Amino acid sequence: MVSEAGTELHTAGHNWAGNLRYAAAEVREPATVAQLQDLVAGATKLRALGSRHSFNRIADTAGTLVSLEHLEPAIEVDPANLTVTVSGGTRYGTLAAELQRQGYALHNLASLPHISVAGAVATATHGSGDRNGNLATAVAGLELVTADGGILTARRGEPDFDGMVVGLGALGIVSSLTLDVEPTFPVSQSVFEDLEWDQVLENLDGVTSSAYSVSLFTDWSGDRIGQAWLKSRTEGESASQRTGFFGGSPAKEPRHPIAGVPGTTCTQQLGVPGPWSDRLAHFRMEFTPSKGDELQSEYLIPREHAVDAIQVMRRLSHLVTPLLLVSEIRTVAADSLWLSPNYGTDSIGLHLTWRQDQPAVEAVLPVIEAELAPFGARPHWGKLFDGDASRLAPLYPRFPDFKALADRLDPEGKFRNNFLDTKVFGS
Ligand SMILES: Cc1cc2nc3c(=O)[nH]c(=O)nc-3n(C[C@H](O)[C@H](O)[C@H](O)COP(=O)(O)OP(=O)(O)OC[C@H]3O[C@@H](n4cnc5c(N)ncnc54)[C@H](O)[C@@H]3O)c2cc1C
Repeated sequence: MVSEAGTELHTAGHNWAGNLRYAAAEVREPATVAQLQDLVAGATKLRALGSRHSFNRIADTAGTLVSLEHLEPAIEVDPANLTVTVSGGTRYGTLAAELQRQGYALHNLASLPHISVAGAVATATHGSGDRNGNLATAVAGLELVTADGGILTARRGEPDFDGMVVGLGALGIVSSLTLDVEPTFPVSQSVFEDLEWDQVLENLDGVTSSAYSVSLFTDWSGDRIGQAWLKSRTEGESASQRTGFFGGSPAKEPRHPIAGVPGTTCTQQLGVPGPWSDRLAHFRMEFTPSKGDELQSEYLIPREHAVDAIQVMRRLSHLVTPLLLVSEIRTVAADSLWLSPNYGTDSIGLHLTWRQDQPAVEAVLPVIEAELAPFGARPHWGKLFDGDASRLAPLYPRFPDFKALADRLDPEGKFRNNFLDTKVFGS
């Protein structure tokens, strides 16, 4: 349907996981930035909607949702500055294929390429790798449609830029992003199975530094870890030469992190080298990522507490394992983005892919959060968690600055929603 303003109009529907129906009355899909500016200027309450992959109500609004999926598409590489500028609705899968075609690469990808760049950056979505910052750290500049319908541009190094990038959708609608790129590089991916917990915990730094990106998959029970996925840049180290890995042995066939799901939906494994764009994510663009029928939570913990935090999760296995499809352990490098869960500290990410039983999951989250609290665990903004602003604020030194920035850019609270009121603004 086309509205009077010329923008596409739809009912809001539900998120990717299907665990929530957006309360918003409608979704608008502007085709131009000028239409987007008119929409924002004329609304009393609205929020940007990305590709709907968050598991909580962070994207929701009591007013109008705005999807940039049909915004005039743009992927423009600047070879001199090694950047690419993308329009607000671009998905990583589309961007990665185009960059690879032109001979460029991003530094990292999340487990799935289906998510929008703007939505992923807004929640500090990350992949893995001791030296890899989250995806938001690649942002060199952004263009924001602010509450009055005006356009604000900001570049890395300018005042408040570090507060704007992981913006949780609270500052305005990001109409374009400029990201760092580098020359394309090949990656090979190898999976090892049945690693020994004791060996891994004694040598955790050796495990996570053994490839460009390392992920461990576990259900926390028993003495062994289900799988290790090693993504190696083949101009450097190559995990495919290894015959064993901390008590584990190489998988003989493509694997999926979740037992019983075919590995054919995952990116190329078995050490076969190929483009970064086909290896850095776990899941292929043309298939449903992960399981589909699931929920997710994740906690980012300062690296020095990694072993203790992992031991806590193993101790909680009796509560956690029955609700789990699988857990993933990753590493993320420190950054300076105010609301990034990796702000100021190298981190370990303890991720949980849950079965679709939200009441049971929500009953166990406070237990996990209480046990991980001594380590300063920061929850992933786009996944299910329990803590509110009173618990989150002490974890983020720049929380007050972010709230002041949001108040300045959105004085009437156009972009505020229940999630932000509860988890950030504390009202
Ligand atoms: C199967 C699956 C696998 C996942 N794997 C990972 C992973 O490997 N690593 C990880 O860290 N996370 C992962 N996630 C979580 C996911 O990356 C985040 O929830 C991400 O925010 C989703 O992006 P989206 O485009 O769907 O945004 P949405 O969920 O639609 O929105 C998220 C937030 O972004 C804001 N937003 C969206 N577009 C804009 C815009 N143009 N301007 C301003 N704000 C905007 C919204 O308002 C909202 O606040 C996974 C999720 C799923 C479903």
